[in-house]
Amino acid sequence: MSLPPSPAAPASSPTALSPSARVATAVRHAVVSGLLGEDCPIAGFIDTDGVRSSVAALHEAFPGVPAVLHTFAAKAASLVPVLRLLARCGMGCEVASPGELRLALDAGFAPSKIVLDSPAKTRDEIRRALAVGVALNADNLDEVDRIASLRPADAVSAIGLRVNPQVGGGSIGAMSTATATSKFGVALRDPGARERVVQAFAQHPWLTRLHAHVGSQGCSLELIAAGIGETYRLAEEINRTIGRRQITGLDIGGGLPVNFEDDDVRPTFAAYAAALRAEVPGLFDGRYELVTEFGRSLLAKNGFIGALVEYTKDAGGRRIALTHAGAQTATRTVFMPEAWPLRVGAFDAEGLPKGGPPLVQDIAGPCCFAGDVVAHARELPELRSGDFVVLYDTGAYYFSSPWSYNSLPRPAVYGFEVTEGPGPEGPAVRFAPVRDAQSLDSVSAESGLAHADALVDLGESF
Ligand SMILES: *Cc1c(COP(=O)(O)O)cnc(C)c1O
Repeated sequence: MSLPPSPAAPASSPTALSPSARVATAVRHAVVSGLLGEDCPIAGFIDTDGVRSSVAALHEAFPGVPAVLHTFAAKAASLVPVLRLLARCGMGCEVASPGELRLALDAGFAPSKIVLDSPAKTRDEIRRALAVGVALNADNLDEVDRIASLRPADAVSAIGLRVNPQVGGGSIGAMSTATATSKFGVALRDPGARERVVQAFAQHPWLTRLHAHVGSQGCSLELIAAGIGETYRLAEEINRTIGRRQITGLDIGGGLPVNFEDDDVRPTFAAYAAALRAEVPGLFDGRYELVTEFGRSLLAKNGFIGALVEYTKDAGGRRIALTHAGAQTATRTVFMPEAWPLRVGAFDAEGLPKGGPPLVQDIAGPCCFAGDVVAHARELPELRSGDFVVLYDTGAYYFSSPWSYNSLPRPAVYGFEVTEGPGPEGPAVRFAPVRDAQSLDSVSAESGLAHADALVDLGESF
């Protein structure tokens, strides 16, 4: 099924509230309506108006570019209702596994608006992608050969090759895709690589795109633009060398970093487009169809996690709040706290913002390992049992990609919309379910319940 694209929402949000004020409003209503509380001690929330205006800001940053397909990197928020909302806002979808492709199709993206970038595509995955008609980017030249051997003559899929411009990394090694030794794409500066790439395009006329994703969190706009500039110049060189305009599309990836310090959106999509225009003016003149693949920059600031404070304690002179948000939902932050610090908000048992003098506290999670702390020595109003904490800017790569450590269930996720209340009650909030909290039946089923006797039987069969 495919959905007709609708025009993107206006950039101005319907409510004048700041993003954190919208979060506070949503927290208060979630507590009052029981979406957060003793029985539901953790949930993820998505601000749908925020998502719409982020998508609008992205579209507005590329005015007058004749052909551009903005895809959303599904891994950043792999939830069908979120993907469907994005499809309705006119986005395409970037997927990197059979599971993500399935979600994108279930969400209603037309195959012509889906791009498959899995780093290790199986033959089966390639066959299916070609049959469905989604675009594919080969990760390496062996994969190009594999696609060549599987591609039917009447295939409609746009096919590209991912390159690594090797322009260097940003401040987070694990997020840097364009280092000399990155696992992604054809390493362009390696001896002989450019020649082999040119040769592959000469040999396969259906190879019509180049792809680079130079990211992400921790990388500067200049670095990203430099990587895209290298890719553009390679496309020009290939088309010149083989004497025809075979490369018609440039997939410039995503990777715009996000500011996790405050409400401010920076860098903006407009700043990104301006940096690209300065570095690679030819990119925008309409000779190439452009594809973008943003994830974090579209969703991160439009979501938050709310979690109950179950207990507080003191240890070695440090106050610790034991909450239900830990590594199962804030995995990167827990394992790499310096690289992925999160803002934490303190709310009381009624869901109202807490005041009071700041106290240095650790915000810990429910997982059974000592490092399960989402914020170390953070100054916050004193938290008490029954209060709530908010982890801001967690709309991408947090509650949508949970970790099943300790058999902790996946938290529920809700969308919300804040509307200006007519009366003195202030703003109103409407919620919609996005994903149910995982049941214990489901936890057990995913842990092999159907094969409960298997190992015992194996021993007895000898
Ligand atoms: C993860 C990924 C993206 C999205 O990255 P963000 O930093 O979330 O914008 C885009 N393209 C590819 C190939 C990716 O792997």
